[in-house]
Amino acid sequence: MADLRGGIDLGGTKIQTAIVDADGKVLGQSRRPTPTDGGPEDVAAEMAASLREAADEAGVQTETLVGVGVGSPGDADERTGVVSGARNLPGWEGSFPLAATLKEALDAEVRVGNDVQVATEAEFHLGAGREFQSLIGVFWGTGVGGGLVLDGKPWLGRGAAGEIGHMVVKRDGAKCPCGRKGCMEAYAGRGAMEAEARRQHEEGTKTDLFKLMHKHEKDRLTSGIWERALDHGDHLAEKLVDRAIEALGTGIASAVNLLDPEAVIIGGGLGVRFGERYMGPLTKEMGKHLFVDERPPAVRVASLGDLGGAVGASLLVSS
Ligand SMILES: [Zn+2]
Repeated sequence: MADLRGGIDLGGTKIQTAIVDADGKVLGQSRRPTPTDGGPEDVAAEMAASLREAADEAGVQTETLVGVGVGSPGDADERTGVVSGARNLPGWEGSFPLAATLKEALDAEVRVGNDVQVATEAEFHLGAGREFQSLIGVFWGTGVGGGLVLDGKPWLGRGAAGEIGHMVVKRDGAKCPCGRKGCMEAYAGRGAMEAEARRQHEEGTKTDLFKLMHKHEKDRLTSGIWERALDHGDHLAEKLVDRAIEALGTGIASAVNLLDPEAVIIGGGLGVRFGERYMGPLTKEMGKHLFVDERPPAVRVASLGDLGGAVGASLLVSS
């Protein structure tokens, strides 16, 4: 089989891998939890093992792959293959030569890129963004990440473009996990929403969010827990999700005013779960801030789901 590529989506909770053919069809896949202790070497070993599993399922050897692409958190240098400051991963505050390490383990060429950017490009080439030439990908999950495709090409800036989660939606506003104030992520990121829910719960606000979390044996408020709470009519959950939608609408509209893209693609754990349900409120919030409001961009939910990151990563490899 010619022209097969590997893709690895390295996340804070899981490593998802896929073997993909030239048409973007997935022939093998595997998923493993991301190690929670150790260091970058341990994470890289787990990534290699997961990709070998996917290759087994596809019936190929990793050394016959055209190459392997990796979507990584932190600062992923496409040129050198070095990943720095991946703070969601164990012991990865510094720099680690991820591409070189995986190349040795897998006997294949390896390219690394930013996880959110590769997921945006996957939606552009194969998913909800296929019919557009310019789009903004908004990945609404633990944080809020973004990716850009302009005139059919990825826009990376000097390597740090697309940080839509850190657009300021309120001057001197809520504290963001990044340490600054008033970012969109400070209101819309799952992590920030959980911190605010905890604070209000401790101050005596009634909510079933944490009861549901314990009942379903989770250690954090996952997107599924938020959804259950909304289905129960939990007031605090409703209030915090509405606040998140307001922040997302404000930040996304500001980005649209600057770039005028044809489409906005909403992905990420919360985005995929709530995108359709909140499409009306989100486009309404955006509408308040759009300068050219009679011609809003298309807003779509990401369609590649869980495997989008791994499939997108495989696109880093040119045939
Ligand atoms: Zn921030």
